[in-house]
Amino acid sequence: METFELSNSAANQTLSDAIRRGLISPRVFIDPAFEPIKTPRADFNRKEIQLQATHLSYLWAVCYTMIGLYEITRKTAELEIQALKVNDFPEIDQVSFVINWGIRQNTMRTIWPDGVPYPSLEDEHVKATNELFLFVIRYLMYHEAAHLIYHYSSFQLVAKQSRREVLSDDEKRRMRNMEVQADEFAFDSVVLFPSEGPMQYMRALGAIIAQLSSLYLLSSANTKGGSHPDYDDRIKRALKKGTVDEEPYNTYIHLTLVIGIQVFLHLHDDKYLDEIRANGPYETFEQLEAELFNLLERVKNQ
Ligand SMILES: [Zn+2]
Repeated sequence: METFELSNSAANQTLSDAIRRGLISPRVFIDPAFEPIKTPRADFNRKEIQLQATHLSYLWAVCYTMIGLYEITRKTAELEIQALKVNDFPEIDQVSFVINWGIRQNTMRTIWPDGVPYPSLEDEHVKATNELFLFVIRYLMYHEAAHLIYHYSSFQLVAKQSRREVLSDDEKRRMRNMEVQADEFAFDSVVLFPSEGPMQYMRALGAIIAQLSSLYLLSSANTKGGSHPDYDDRIKRALKKGTVDEEPYNTYIHLTLVIGIQVFLHLHDDKYLDEIRANGPYETFEQLEAELFNLLERVKNQ
């Protein structure tokens, strides 16, 4: 609950009202079981947000990787804006080791390996990771809180979906709307101060990385969502809501996003990055970003 306390006061009010009305338990359950990744969920019976220790380690690994790649890319982008050439930088070995370990947890839980940095390490990169990690977690918790607060009447539909039963088009549409609503509530809730400059930036980053973290668990490069909104559309929405006019934050956000999508493509097939590289160099990160979104759209419709 401490995580919630750092949010804006309107969201706090909604949350304490919901707790008083018995819609949401003030407890957050963290599943310690040594099992593969389970993404956060809203348990309508217990009215509880459920997180999982494995998934939290995975998220931390994603944050660590994003910060590492961000530093590397920032250095190279001074020369030209291009698709990431994964093999050019020795530092990439360390960060890809971290994310690859994180993703493997999707199929099999393994202990925190030697060579993977950990949250209590005294290190600048780790400190920045911990800070970002909290924004990502806040976003994800508010997303689940929104389901508990607003979607109780649809709990049978949600149960049907988790049993992987076939949903009608109308049911799928309802599910997608619920996801969009939960994303928006999460986004609006995660802010410490009036949303200018650095704080708006951290909140947008938290939302974008939370969305990227579900992207990395997909088994192919196809970002179609089915009963959820398409993954790339969720990222676009977060990006639109998180617009920061102020520089350098605006550039940082686009830079993080272009890295994030390239990591995703790299995980599936480097031919995608080759294609992006062949169409470069790019004038701005926004231009590279548009190219990446076009590519995702094409893969989706193949
Ligand atoms: Zn959801």
